[in-house]
Order: sequence, then C-alpha cells, then structure tokens
Amino acid sequence: MLGPRIKQGRMAAGLSLRDLAQAAGVSAMAISKYEREQIRPSSETLLRLAKVLGVRTEYFFRQSDIELSEVEFRKHAKLSAKDEGKALEDVREQLERWLELEAVIPASWPKAFALPRGLPAGVAAYDDIEALAERLRTAWQLGTGSIRNLVDKMEEEGIKVILTPHDGGKKFDGLVAKANGHTVIVVGQGWPGDRQRFTLAHELGHLALNGRLASSLDEERACNRFAGAFLVPREEATRVLGASRTWLEPRELYLLKHEWGLSMNGWIHRAEDLGILNKAAARRHWEHFARQGWRESEPGDPYPRERPCRFAQLVYRALAEDLIGESKAAELLGIPLAELRARRRMDATDAADRH
Ligand SMILES: [Zn+2]
Repeated sequence: MLGPRIKQGRMAAGLSLRDLAQAAGVSAMAISKYEREQIRPSSETLLRLAKVLGVRTEYFFRQSDIELSEVEFRKHAKLSAKDEGKALEDVREQLERWLELEAVIPASWPKAFALPRGLPAGVAAYDDIEALAERLRTAWQLGTGSIRNLVDKMEEEGIKVILTPHDGGKKFDGLVAKANGHTVIVVGQGWPGDRQRFTLAHELGHLALNGRLASSLDEERACNRFAGAFLVPREEATRVLGASRTWLEPRELYLLKHEWGLSMNGWIHRAEDLGILNKAAARRHWEHFARQGWRESEPGDPYPRERPCRFAQLVYRALAEDLIGESKAAELLGIPLAELRARRRMDATDAADRH
C-alpha cells in the first residue's frame, strides 16, 4: 500500500516527481520506483518524504479505499487536471480521517444524510424553489433566522463537509460528490465566509433539487436560487427590505450581509428574485456595483469564514475518553504532536482547529 500512498501524498501536495525528489534529497527515479512499489524507501527516507509532504509517516501506511463518484464542481474557469487532482486527493485524505474518527466513536455520529420526507415532488418554476428551501429549513429546525454555523449544521445532518486549501488558485468554489455511501460537500478554505456559505447552500441545492427539477429549468440557476432562499427565507427578506423598492443603499446591504451571511450582490439577486426590485431597478444596482468594482470584491470587512468545530471537538472527546492516543489525535487533526500538546495545555488559544 506504501507506493500508492506516496503518490497520493505527492499529488495532494501538488508536487511533480522531480519536485519531491529534490526536496527529499533522492532521485526522481527512486520516487517513481517507490510509487510503483519496485523498491521500498528506507525509514529515514520515509521520514523525509513525510516532512516534505506535510504528513505524518502513519499516513503512508493507512489504507485508502475511498472512491469519489458523481463529482460535480462549481468552478469559474477551467480547473487544470493537476489542480483538480490536488483538490480531490485532499478531499480523499480528509475524508479518510473522518471515517477513521467515525470508526472510533460510532455512537455519537449522525445518521447518513437523507432528504427529509414531504419535500415538494416537482419544481416546475424557479419560484417553487422557495417552498422547497423553506421545507428543508423547517425539517432542519433552523427557524427563520440567519444560520450561524452552516458547516456544523450540515454535518449534524449527516453531510461530510470538507474545507480544502486546494482550490486551484480560487478556480473553483466547491463541489458535491458521493464517497463510499457518504454525501460530501467540499468548499474552498480561502474564500470569504459569505462566499463559502453561498457555495455550501448551492451544493445543498443540487442535492435537494436532484430529480425534482423540470427539464425546462437551468440547474445552476435553480441552485443559486435555492442558496438565496435557504440563507434568507422569502418572508424575512420581505420583512427587512419591504415589499417593493427602487434603490437599496449599499450600506444597508453591507449591514444585511453581516447579519445574514449573504453577500451584498446576493442580496440584490434575492431582491430581484422576489420582485422587491424590478428588472430595471436591479440593473441600476448592477451598474453601480460594476463601476465601484464591487461585483468582484465587495467593500468593507469581509464576512468571517466558516469555522467548523465538530470534527476537532470529537477528536478531543475521543482523546479524553481514551479511545485514541495523542499521536492518533495529532494525525487526525493534521498537526504535529508538539502542537497537539500545546493545544491540550491551552497554550494555543486559536479556536480554529483544522478541520
Ligand atoms: Zn452547481
């Protein structure tokens, strides 16, 4: 198993044979032979490889039987095959850790993801998506308010959410896939929080709309509509904006963005979708935003990134209950042992344990 794991680790790090060889102080030929299991690296070499790849040596000995299928990317530009490989490798690697943790504490784990019963059977028009999103919010007991931590909520509902640093230089927002019976949603780690949340909700839209959408409707557009409706239910949007407007103040949109975690641009779409702004009024907003450069980059403080804590919390719980030892905990968290010990002593106060 060693060879394929070295290759996976190399792909995940985005290194060529030569890159890895150089960094680890061996020949590219040697790396190639390790990967094809023609020769076995010495334990000293293995340590160096681990260091270069940013993994613990245990990584090389873990079994990987994770198969990703039905992968659907949400991307802006074409993702190179190399970047796509990197992203998928990282997903596989993080998912392995999930499943490993899951095997240690099965009792507290949520059920596998399933859509709630009673969702509308068909979506014949974009407006029908409102009811679908509302129904899902009700089933998930989200009430009508803003959703505080979307990642943790989705995980509670049995979706595996993975934040990856490998987004091909922001070439993709996220993806949804199946892996070994699990539903996986992946989102780029580097995006601002409002963008991550929109992506998460968009991918959830793919799951919710699957098999329901009339063929005359565009699925991507439908998923965007779903995302807006899921993040800000119709009634709430109408309550805060009013039923009909001709101009929305940018400062007003900025405040709403921070209250609801939906971008300023997202709010304009939402207002247009709900008929609060008519087409001409919406166009005036787009023109204004384009002139200010706010279509690309919104003004003011960004909305904070999603900071999921469920995975790390369960690792510490497993540690506390002696279900795993310190080095396994460090491996699952993807941090060095010394760092884990510092965190256990509460020396490191950053609450953002890696997911
Ligand atoms: Zn999509």
